Amino acid sequence: MDILKIIKDAGIVGAGGAGFPTHIKYKAVFDKLVINAAECEPLLEKDLYLIETNADRIFNALDRLLEDFPGVTVYFATKEKYNNVLAVLKPYIEKNPRLELTLLGDYYPAGDEFEIVYQVTGKSIPPGGLPLDLGCVVSNVETLYNIGCALDGKPVTQKYLTINGEVDKPGIYRVAIGTGFRELLDHAGIRIGDPAIIEGGPMMGEYVDDSEVVKKTTAGIIVAEKEHPMMKLRLLSIEQNLRIAASACTQCTFCTELCSRYLLGHPLEPHKIMRSVSHSSYSELAILSSALICSECGVCELYACPMGLSPRTINKHLKEILQNNGVKWEGQEGTTEPRAEKAWRYVPGDRIKTRLRLTEYDNFDIKSIHQYISPEKVVLKLLQHSGTPSVPVVEVGDEVKAGQLIAEYPAGELGANLHSSIDGTVKSIDKNAITIAK
Ligand code: SF4
Ligand code: SF4
Repeated sequence: MDILKIIKDAGIVGAGGAGFPTHIKYKAVFDKLVINAAECEPLLEKDLYLIETNADRIFNALDRLLEDFPGVTVYFATKEKYNNVLAVLKPYIEKNPRLELTLLGDYYPAGDEFEIVYQVTGKSIPPGGLPLDLGCVVSNVETLYNIGCALDGKPVTQKYLTINGEVDKPGIYRVAIGTGFRELLDHAGIRIGDPAIIEGGPMMGEYVDDSEVVKKTTAGIIVAEKEHPMMKLRLLSIEQNLRIAASACTQCTFCTELCSRYLLGHPLEPHKIMRSVSHSSYSELAILSSALICSECGVCELYACPMGLSPRTINKHLKEILQNNGVKWEGQEGTTEPRAEKAWRYVPGDRIKTRLRLTEYDNFDIKSIHQYISPEKVVLKLLQHSGTPSVPVVEVGDEVKAGQLIAEYPAGELGANLHSSIDGTVKSIDKNAITIAK
């Protein structure tokens, strides 16, 4: 069977980011498939775990992909410090001339798509562009693992994620998609009262509450005190952020000097955006619209700014306003020259951990996976990928089995199929989710 149909039927979306549907991504014309195994967010380890424990399944998926994409070379990109992972990868890579290893330094954000493509090709994707502009498609390790499962007839119903921070049992968890965070955190054992919770990693993750559920894109759950350095800024409102920026930004330019996209040569200078919003100079559209090319990596906010300000949060806010008003990035075309200073401005991963007080949580054995968690009830969101929500194909009261299709992507749209993650009965369907209980 056509591999794209297998991927589409299994509901596979990018497991490492915005959840772009994989069958659409692979329809493009490309000659480099870059496997992102950088795992650069501090405290998250599930991709490393998957390589160490499921390499056969991952490389089986790659072999099959290479059959269907004859002109493609695969670049497996991981950090040179991951000795255990490299020991697993090397024998597979050495026996196939179409596989190459790309070694990354221990810096952040090594796993940013633009950065990883730069490391593979030596070229910078233009601002507002895509890896495809340089003939690349980037996929996360877990996406490949899911393709391996689909080749064995298993659609995406489970998720690997890291739970870390103020919990008794930090580690890798394999859970049914749709499991509530509250239930998961009960398993992990929160050891503080009134915690703050991040979905994702400490740098790019989103502040959420425990009513959230696991999605195909959930890479991790981090728990800490609200006063913890990785939490404090996330808990401020946009109004508070703007007010503090107006009174405290010294225009020191550190945020720009360390900005990962500025260093790739992009016309993004967060200190100018901060100046513009601080002085209410909303007429400086060219400066403000550069927020559209911010990756939200968090370096400016959580590492660079000596005043504890939030350029990333302000960029995110501006992006929403600009996108809601139909403003698109209209930058230059063609490739961009990285700035000369890029080579000595990498932000060391260890320094981020120290600065954000994360080292105390960086100590679990990634092989100690916790038991599979399959709860009594799951809430399966209809939009857990880029594009349009999936359309239910079941009704309230239907009995369903784990792995059964419950919602499909609308024909002709960007979307993905959705499958039940447990055996049970459909309890409710609304515009956001299908709830299934045992
Ligand atoms: S690093 Fe902070 S203080 Fe300096 S320009 Fe940027 S936002 Fe302003
Ligand atoms: S979050 Fe900050 S450092 Fe990262 S790309 Fe955006 S402006 Fe640059």
